[in-house]
Amino acid sequence: MIDKIEIYPARIQLSDPFVISKGAISHATLTIIKIYDHDGVYGIGECCPYRSIHGETQAGTVAFAKDLAAALIGLDPETIHDHIALMNKMIVGNASVKCAFDMALYDLNAKKAEKPLYKFLGGSKNKTIMTDNTVSLLPIDKMVAKAEKFVDQGFTILKIKLGEKGAQNDIDRMYAIRKAVGNDIILRIDANQGWNYYDAKKALLAMESLDIEHCEEPIHAPNINDQTRLTQLSPIPIMADEAVFNHVDALRIIRNQAADLINIKLGKSGGIANAMKIASIAEAADMYCQVGSFSESRLGISALVHFDYVWNNIIYHDLDSPLMLSEDPVIGGLTYNEKWEVTVGDTPGHGADYDPDFLKRFERIEIKD
Ligand SMILES: [Mg+2]
Repeated sequence: MIDKIEIYPARIQLSDPFVISKGAISHATLTIIKIYDHDGVYGIGECCPYRSIHGETQAGTVAFAKDLAAALIGLDPETIHDHIALMNKMIVGNASVKCAFDMALYDLNAKKAEKPLYKFLGGSKNKTIMTDNTVSLLPIDKMVAKAEKFVDQGFTILKIKLGEKGAQNDIDRMYAIRKAVGNDIILRIDANQGWNYYDAKKALLAMESLDIEHCEEPIHAPNINDQTRLTQLSPIPIMADEAVFNHVDALRIIRNQAADLINIKLGKSGGIANAMKIASIAEAADMYCQVGSFSESRLGISALVHFDYVWNNIIYHDLDSPLMLSEDPVIGGLTYNEKWEVTVGDTPGHGADYDPDFLKRFERIEIKD
């Protein structure tokens, strides 16, 4: 029986501002949820709402978290799908805060089952997970310098943020970066909806010879008609990111042939339960997926790696958000090796927790019976 839920509004400074076509952020603003069973075992989850993508703020997630927590007190933690239905009944949308609860519930149940989360979910470590690192949208010389630095650090996959109106500067950026890093580095791009159809058409055709792996969210996410015609003509595979929050969106994108690939983020789907549905729908459509994140710490990304191990159709891994934080307050959880391969251990649950001294810096909101 769920006995107590704690809510922590936390904040971690980024080493450098993270800049995408929708603007810049300087901090990861996290809402951390701890769900305690009556025997004292707890599960922990987090979310990092981006107001320009989720329409959620930290203040909003904390306010809703209090309501959601009060509704879950006294319930059996094992019936996760019932809890998701309850949260959906209480408030529409708000995928980010729902994700924090879902993650904590899965962590708690896997701990109680004494299984690492990937095994609890039916997965296995049957693949190598290599992360990219992301180059922010900046003047061309700064982006080239950052790309070269990441290659020096051993990264073999770079994700380049683009999406400047008109697209010509973006084309110039990618020619300069490809020239600087050579042909052995995998380059993927993400316009974060910054182009319109004509910008995107111009950019994608102009970059055909640059061997770009895929392009995330080239145009305004709700514009499904233009996404469909862009996907048909693009020589670079199109990945839906902001256009696919949940499984309902995934089905719509697939039915409309409006993308070649889907980027799954727990913070968009509302957590692991719905992310499983997206991966399943994509699998049925023979579609490959990526996993990605907002600015979560190693805690949220550890949960994501466990989910990643469940699905053979997840072949792209964008797991660099913890590397952008100026501190790492997480105990346990995922590790990066020297080649930027990512893995998790076999401790029960997702294996990550926050250092209690870190949590002491923030307000602790406790919801009990
Ligand atoms: Mg993206």
